[in-house]
Amino acid sequence: MELETRLDTFPGIGPARAKALKRLGLETVGDLLAYYPRAYEDRTRVYAISNAPAEEPVCVSALVAETPTLSRIRKGLTVTKCRIVDHTGSAQVTFFNQDYVRHALTAGESYIFYGKLEVMGRHRQFTNPVFEREGKARFTGRIMPVYPLTAGVSNHLLAGLALSGVEECAGAVADHLPADIRLNHGLCTAEYACRNVHFPADQEALSIARRRLVFEELFFLSCGMAFLRSRRTGTPGQAFPRREVEDFLALLPFAPTGAQRRAMEEIRDDLSSGRPMNRLIQGDVGSGKTAVAAYAAWQARAGGFQTAMMAPTEILAHQHYETLSKMLAPAGIRVGLLTGSMKAAEKKAVGAALASGELHLLVGTHALLSEGVAYKNLGLVITDEQHRFGVGQRSALASKAQVQPHVLVMSATPIPRTLALLIYGDLELTVIDELPPGRTPVETYLVGEDKRQRMYNFVRKNVSQGRQVYVICPAVEEGEGGELKAVTAYAKELSEVVFPELRVGFVHGKLKAKDKESVMAAFSKGELDVLVSTTVVEVGVDVPNAALMIIENAERFGLSQLHQLRGRVGRGQWQSYCVLVTGNRSQETLERLRYFTKTTDGFRIAEKDLELRGPGDFFGQRQHGLPAMKAADLAGDIRVLKEAQEAAEELLRADPELTAPEHREIMAKIRGLFAEDGDIFN
Ligand code: ADP
Ligand code: MG
Repeated sequence: MELETRLDTFPGIGPARAKALKRLGLETVGDLLAYYPRAYEDRTRVYAISNAPAEEPVCVSALVAETPTLSRIRKGLTVTKCRIVDHTGSAQVTFFNQDYVRHALTAGESYIFYGKLEVMGRHRQFTNPVFEREGKARFTGRIMPVYPLTAGVSNHLLAGLALSGVEECAGAVADHLPADIRLNHGLCTAEYACRNVHFPADQEALSIARRRLVFEELFFLSCGMAFLRSRRTGTPGQAFPRREVEDFLALLPFAPTGAQRRAMEEIRDDLSSGRPMNRLIQGDVGSGKTAVAAYAAWQARAGGFQTAMMAPTEILAHQHYETLSKMLAPAGIRVGLLTGSMKAAEKKAVGAALASGELHLLVGTHALLSEGVAYKNLGLVITDEQHRFGVGQRSALASKAQVQPHVLVMSATPIPRTLALLIYGDLELTVIDELPPGRTPVETYLVGEDKRQRMYNFVRKNVSQGRQVYVICPAVEEGEGGELKAVTAYAKELSEVVFPELRVGFVHGKLKAKDKESVMAAFSKGELDVLVSTTVVEVGVDVPNAALMIIENAERFGLSQLHQLRGRVGRGQWQSYCVLVTGNRSQETLERLRYFTKTTDGFRIAEKDLELRGPGDFFGQRQHGLPAMKAADLAGDIRVLKEAQEAAEELLRADPELTAPEHREIMAKIRGLFAEDGDIFN
């Protein structure tokens, strides 16, 4: 057997199982060895029958006292029973629908049983335990891996394959960490890590193995990020003439908050420093990031440079275009719009105006990245709601400039520090921790189906007071997710049955951009009372008159996402409300949603989200543009992350371009990690 040996050559792996394994990304022994357990079961302690603790999974060693008997209870249900004994007592073992057991257990032989032992008075019983012949134990008497599974693949199957794999191939696993780094950081070898991550000798061996794998993973990632950063700071940037923040403020319809002003000052210093700016502005929804972006664009214009501003959705691009062209016109700044849905002729006209330098600020979607878009002199790149873009896209846009442009990234997703370090490891951070004055926090309620009519009355009341209402659904079309509220059908029901007197519109991601736009525009102008929508309104949309948001099937959304949604209301001078509707009765869900009704602090919500659902969610959706983590738990492994980051920095200080022959492997690893983003290292 070798690392390349295909799993479908193993006995018992037919085409169906091979296909199921492939769904997990497992085709070869090597794949399997790089597929880490998500948890472990400690089966190291083997008890005697009377000493074994009850009601928790335990291993018990005992002798089968009699030949098992099989009885047919009714159609489709059989029971196999036997008695087991040792020097301390006896117990009954019962198997349901496992007829083979009758021949698998031999009277007079000793076995290790693993399962929950039920104790009723003097009667002890095992139901459906796992068992193995004493002395031939593979899966009992040791720490067992528990793998992430899929339909058609049992843990028993994976553990069996992994055990053979580890026994025969652990020594062949390549060690990609440079030996000096491994030794300096006290890390075990790749072979040891492989053996003990799958079948740990004991808890200590497991933590030694895990530490190495986590370190390795974070090290390569940190190398990638540090590599990007060092390449940027190493290159000279355009120094814009220093223009004071005060001169810009006349363009704003409001006085800036202290936090906005600080952010502008930091940007002013960055832009005039002569080195390329790389700054992340993190500010909760509604904290006024747009004005800060406008300031940066104004500053670029003053230096004679163009600005590109990229938004994740067409709706948002439009909104920025409207806001910014109005705000910046008095300063003579000409703003253009470029989105994927525009006609070819329109795009061409924008392209020409951009190339000639007639346009100073171009707002758009991903279309800004497309081949044909050429700038006269791009000096500043702004991306809004950055978590939607990958690291690769960020650098693709920057590559459109002749000289390294300044980069400003704006995000409303309050990312816990642990993750921010990684995701934005190549950026400097400004936090806008202050909301514009006069905002009252959104009042949030959690209601069940029994309050639906009252909730509809509340909608009517808000509309009669002149306000507008968002209704958010998790699905677009009916049947998509079983019983979920779906935009199209629900909008019809609301407009025809529930609110025939109100103006109801709907919008979702599957509509044509033109239709989306016109609905959003209508809502924005107050021509619709109720907007039924998917999460397309999640980011950035600004309709200050909307003061009520209903979120249907609220259990379907994560806390951070609910927070983004809720940020769409409470943007005007009115008391605003958010109503979460759920028919779900799980204690866990209700607790999570109740927590949300009690806090409006985005950072606390993000921390809670991380705590409740793990980083899988931040990382699961892959919105950060980072490669998926296999070993690292980013909530828990912060210390290793710091160490890995330092090791990466050190390596790049010594060999900034990673050109030394002994570092070629590392460069290859990094390229592999970011492969999905195209070649961002060129
Ligand atoms: P976000 O940070 O979510 O992008 P926006 O830039 O869209 O926030 O601002 C939200 C709303 O607050 C907008 O209507 C904007 O005009 C308003 N706003 C921003 N800054 C201030 C301020 N300093 N004083 C009053 N209103 C402000
Ligand atoms: Mg915004």
